[in-house]
Amino acid sequence: MSKFIFVFGGVISGVGKGVTTASLGKMFKSYGFKTTLIKIDPYLNFDAGTLRPTEHGEVWVTEDGGEIDQDLGTYERFMNENIPKQNNITSGQIYKTVIDNERSGNYLGKTVQFIPHIPQEIIRRIKLASDGYEVTIVEVGGTVGDYENTPFLFAAKALEQEFGKTSVAHVLVSYLPVPYHISEMKTKPTQQAVRLLRQEGLVPDFIVCRTAHPIDEERKQKIQMYAHISPEHIIAAPDVSSIYEVPLNFERDAFGKKMIKRLELAPKKEPDWKVWQKQVNAIIKPGKKIRVAIVGKYLDTGAYKLHDSYVSIEQALMHASAFSDHGCEITWLDAKTFEQNPEALKQLNGFEGVIIPGGFGKSGVEGKIEVISYLRKHNIPFLGICYGMQLAVVEFARNVAKLTDAHTSEVEQNTPYPVIDLLPMQKELLKQNDFGGTMRLGGYSALLKSGTKVDALYQTKDRFVTDTATGEKKVFERHRHRYEVHPDYVTQLEQAGIVFSGYHKRADGTCLMEYVELPDHPFFVATQAHPEFKSRLANPNPIFVGFTNACYKRLCNVKQSTQSTAQFCAQPKADQVSC
Ligand code: GLN
Repeated sequence: MSKFIFVFGGVISGVGKGVTTASLGKMFKSYGFKTTLIKIDPYLNFDAGTLRPTEHGEVWVTEDGGEIDQDLGTYERFMNENIPKQNNITSGQIYKTVIDNERSGNYLGKTVQFIPHIPQEIIRRIKLASDGYEVTIVEVGGTVGDYENTPFLFAAKALEQEFGKTSVAHVLVSYLPVPYHISEMKTKPTQQAVRLLRQEGLVPDFIVCRTAHPIDEERKQKIQMYAHISPEHIIAAPDVSSIYEVPLNFERDAFGKKMIKRLELAPKKEPDWKVWQKQVNAIIKPGKKIRVAIVGKYLDTGAYKLHDSYVSIEQALMHASAFSDHGCEITWLDAKTFEQNPEALKQLNGFEGVIIPGGFGKSGVEGKIEVISYLRKHNIPFLGICYGMQLAVVEFARNVAKLTDAHTSEVEQNTPYPVIDLLPMQKELLKQNDFGGTMRLGGYSALLKSGTKVDALYQTKDRFVTDTATGEKKVFERHRHRYEVHPDYVTQLEQAGIVFSGYHKRADGTCLMEYVELPDHPFFVATQAHPEFKSRLANPNPIFVGFTNACYKRLCNVKQSTQSTAQFCAQPKADQVSC
């Protein structure tokens, strides 16, 4: 049977519960325990698939096709393993199951009630996800005191009741503000959060204190006094420059060992943090920095700019750069600005590379196409992801293959050349307004054309899986889209010079284009997939490594030709491009 750790948030949202949960998971894995992580989202949506990115950040896609809250992405990036969609539990799923059960007569005529039926369904799902694991860490979304949190807190207490205190531990991640007009760290909101948790019968075993600066002894004592918790169980979590430092900081406080002891376990091995520390150092103390622009559209929320919509791309760039020992500075550009002002395209020369990420709908599309055209003509490294690939195909069709007014039918249904289009199955789904969970979702295989850039990149990281039935070597990336390159245009576009370097073969024989590239360009690669979902700190994605290395090469070339700094690029490391 698994041991359980519940992670709750106090005071405000966005306090770092996800990173705390991922770090605890990484620690338990490093001590030799088979560990899994669960995210609970108290919203009524069935999953995150229909949530607007500016409202809730990026939608994370699991290998088995789940559309999930982005915290699951943090878990995978720390744990370096796939986490299935059953590890995300939403209130929507819980209520739907209970009502479906009631309609099917499964409650045998009983009155179906909030207590016990809702917590029972929560517990059933937690147990299902924890099956086969020694340690299960459950992050409860939201903040203690939220109305919608209640059934999950009740379930945590019920699980503690069932398995006993030695099998269930609780962590409160709390925030200690320093109001600028008094310049003093305040513990009162944390005291209130502890009280709210106690009202549900839950006593925190550990309090993780999120602060701008390290917490001092006086503050620790106050929390200790009000929360009746020993000072060793108050864990400091000051702001850090990289989230990947958090498990290292926790280890300095012996958080892992203390939690193992609290659960009456014994470490199965001594962790070795050397490799992790080296990777973190590469992030926080990078060598030369490449400058990458991401031209997106999900950036504005009211008066704020939000990058959460593209968090996995940001992380994948960081992993790839750290792997090759250089840094990466990201600039966010709004695609719409290029539609109003074509002169703005010149600013793209100031970057070593540009990414056009995924997206939906019409807005910003012509701006993105202008950007892609500029990058193609000016030999600036380009990586297109999902919509970014579809628009690269549209750009090439219009401007090189001379298919005037070619478009994606997502934007222009009457285009004479729908080079990107819906396949018949998707047309049926849209006719029925069936939007939830019906895109091409999750991991799909691709066969790569030998001799292409994409093939060479996957060779370097040996990401191939051999199909036992056919003996073919395939690569797998995750997907989330409805539209595809129209199979009827593939030959015509290839004759004009674009290379489709990989495709997915469906059971009915249809080939879906997965990668495109331009052979005579320093780096013009785009993919229908989302390679950012398969990038981990310990295992960066080859497409991103290829892109950042091409950016690094451009940085060296530009510097060498414009400055007398022939030595600008130091001796390349084993995995680095030489320049
Ligand atoms: N809107 C496009 C489609 O549905 C691309 C989606 C994406 O970029 N994730 O096919």
